[in-house]
Amino acid sequence: MIDFHTHINKGKRSAESVRSHLDTHGGGVSVVLPIDPGPSSSALDEAMSNEEAIASAESYPNDIVAFCHVDPTHPDAKQRLKSIQKTGIVRGFGEHKVSLPVDHPRNMEIYELCGQFGWPVLIHMDYTGVYGSNFVALKKVVQSLPDTIFIGHAMAWWTNISSSAITDPASPQFSDYPFGPVLPGGLTDQLLTEYPNVYGDLSARSGYYALSRDETFGEDFVTRHRKKLLWGTDCPCLDGRGTFPDGTFRECLSYFMLPLLQKFCESLGHYNDITHNNAARLLRLPTI
Ligand SMILES: [Zn+2]
Ligand SMILES: [Zn+2]
Repeated sequence: MIDFHTHINKGKRSAESVRSHLDTHGGGVSVVLPIDPGPSSSALDEAMSNEEAIASAESYPNDIVAFCHVDPTHPDAKQRLKSIQKTGIVRGFGEHKVSLPVDHPRNMEIYELCGQFGWPVLIHMDYTGVYGSNFVALKKVVQSLPDTIFIGHAMAWWTNISSSAITDPASPQFSDYPFGPVLPGGLTDQLLTEYPNVYGDLSARSGYYALSRDETFGEDFVTRHRKKLLWGTDCPCLDGRGTFPDGTFRECLSYFMLPLLQKFCESLGHYNDITHNNAARLLRLPTI
């Protein structure tokens, strides 16, 4: 299995936690995502640095793949990325969680460079947290940079599975996690259908709710996008069994998502595509 969305956090979640989390669910490779603590980024003090991500991949070369992240508003952002690329360890860019519109010129420069490096770009987009705003512009972005792979993540991305998405946080009907029937034709569905360079990250509550809110639609969506969906957890628990860093216990996100995928996938091959092979192709790892 490949868990496409994990974090290491100082004093809370170690590389060893990341490994044991996936071991609980079958074992395999985890993608660790730093968030650069730059001027426009969301990174907390506890967030993992690029250096730490690289060190974790070097310590566990069979278990951990490192991505990197640079805030595009740094004057030397492109130079920083180029020097990280020279290490030869990193395989992608993200988690890109910055308070810039997705089509901001600084973002566009970074996306283009990632395409040149062969790095997929994993973007967090939401409406209330102001990260990755101007979601509607994503279509223009992916169209204009066909050599860059874009992976959509978080609430704005998954709310738009439905064409009935309410995108104004001031609206009384707005929710980060909408429930109820999905109306076909959502922007997320369109992007996955029309653009070979667009993938969907199923991690976190946003991914789970998107598939479970309307199971008839969810099953059809998982079938149509068999080659475009990436299983991931983004789960804060330490062991895949629901033990949280503060000592409390809540269900691990995998306990909901993996059975749902098993139910929706028509074959083991289909399930393996979403939980391993689609990610393996993006990361240049062996498929199963
Ligand atoms: Zn994340
Ligand atoms: Zn968990």
